Amino acid sequence: MNHQENEAHRLDAADPGHRHLFHVPPAEGGRYPEVAYLAGNSLGLQPRATRTELLADLEAWSRLGVEGHLEAERPWLPYHELLTAPAARLVGALPTETVVMNSLTVNLHLLMVGFYRPAGERTRIVIEDTAFPSDSYAVRSQARFHGLEPDATVVRLRPRPGEENLRTSDVVEFLAAEGDTVALVLLGGVNYLTGELMDIPAITAAGRAAGAVVGWDLAHAAGNVPLSLHDWDVDFAAWCSYKYLNSGPGALAGVFVHQRHLGDPDLPRFEGWWSTEAATRFEMTPVSRPPATVEAWQISNPPIFAMGPVRTSLELFDSVGMPALRERSLRLTGYLERLLDEVTADRPLTVVTPRDPQRRGCQLSVRIGVGGANELTKRLRHEHGVIADAREPDIVRFAPVPLYSTYHDCWRVADALAATVETR
Ligand SMILES: *Cc1c(COP(=O)(O)O)cnc(C)c1O
Repeated sequence: MNHQENEAHRLDAADPGHRHLFHVPPAEGGRYPEVAYLAGNSLGLQPRATRTELLADLEAWSRLGVEGHLEAERPWLPYHELLTAPAARLVGALPTETVVMNSLTVNLHLLMVGFYRPAGERTRIVIEDTAFPSDSYAVRSQARFHGLEPDATVVRLRPRPGEENLRTSDVVEFLAAEGDTVALVLLGGVNYLTGELMDIPAITAAGRAAGAVVGWDLAHAAGNVPLSLHDWDVDFAAWCSYKYLNSGPGALAGVFVHQRHLGDPDLPRFEGWWSTEAATRFEMTPVSRPPATVEAWQISNPPIFAMGPVRTSLELFDSVGMPALRERSLRLTGYLERLLDEVTADRPLTVVTPRDPQRRGCQLSVRIGVGGANELTKRLRHEHGVIADAREPDIVRFAPVPLYSTYHDCWRVADALAATVETR
């Protein structure tokens, strides 16, 4: 074992994290029994508690049938309420502002029903040029839905030539200069490709000062960085739960709507029987009476067996707490950055994620000199048991997740990259 690997083991002993609470997949290649899992930004690992908790909910169904709605240990009718408080704490919201429902892009559309209302000169939607494709497609289809031309309606903000990341000041200046044509700003809190953490409060303030509505896609931010959506005056936000929130593939997503919009009768929403006040749900009346909470955005009765894993995971985040996770995340990501700096120094590799820890979460993205990101991650996996995520043609993303990643995982990434990528 070399000196650096010993150092990694020493750091793990001193700062162990919560790996024991998760299932870590076995490795198919390399020298270690388990994979070095750096793809938690794509799909988080399974908490050990998830299966037991899910089985308990299934057991209630087998034992109680329809009576489980009221008589299950965790009754199904108000089940979603169990997720509300921990989700609210996770994103810095009031419980009345937060609900778990549907999936992310569906929620973005449901929110845009009310929050994207182009009128007169104010029609444009601002996103980032490196927006996740689903968000690009969503806003373009919203433009078409309103009879607008997507190319003329969607503004894609780009970094300055030669730079990898958007400057907050450039976004703020754009909004000051052209904000009166902007109906909606919808950016990713942490960019999925570069790992850049945007200055959410500054951009929210600039967008709102310009008269636009400001929403955030927090797919890569929720469970990764501390958030204070209420205090930051964000209009609305949505996030998925299968990345950092470890709730399983396609897991239910989260929604935030700021208190000032709750109960606003002039804000359009699509409704179903879950949009009405819970106490009135079974009156079976033709007209709804929605509560003055974000629950008015719910439509259908939620899938209980999909809510279970989100509940288990949110309880885990609640017990560890985002402040502690962020502290460990800064240590772990800083460590990976130092190791990557050594490897990239004499190889055609560049870290494109901001170097300032305050401008990023736990993901470090590496641009590889030539194309072939898929090929490289395949080799990392099969030859070294390192699981990373490729974005063709030339970005490989590594996310040391503070809940379950280790310093030794980080060391394995650097060691595998050094062995796989030729020096210049
Ligand atoms: C992962 C991700 C999505 C995925 O959308 P789903 O509706 O969950 O399939 C959308 N937007 C961003 C920014 C993402 O990172």
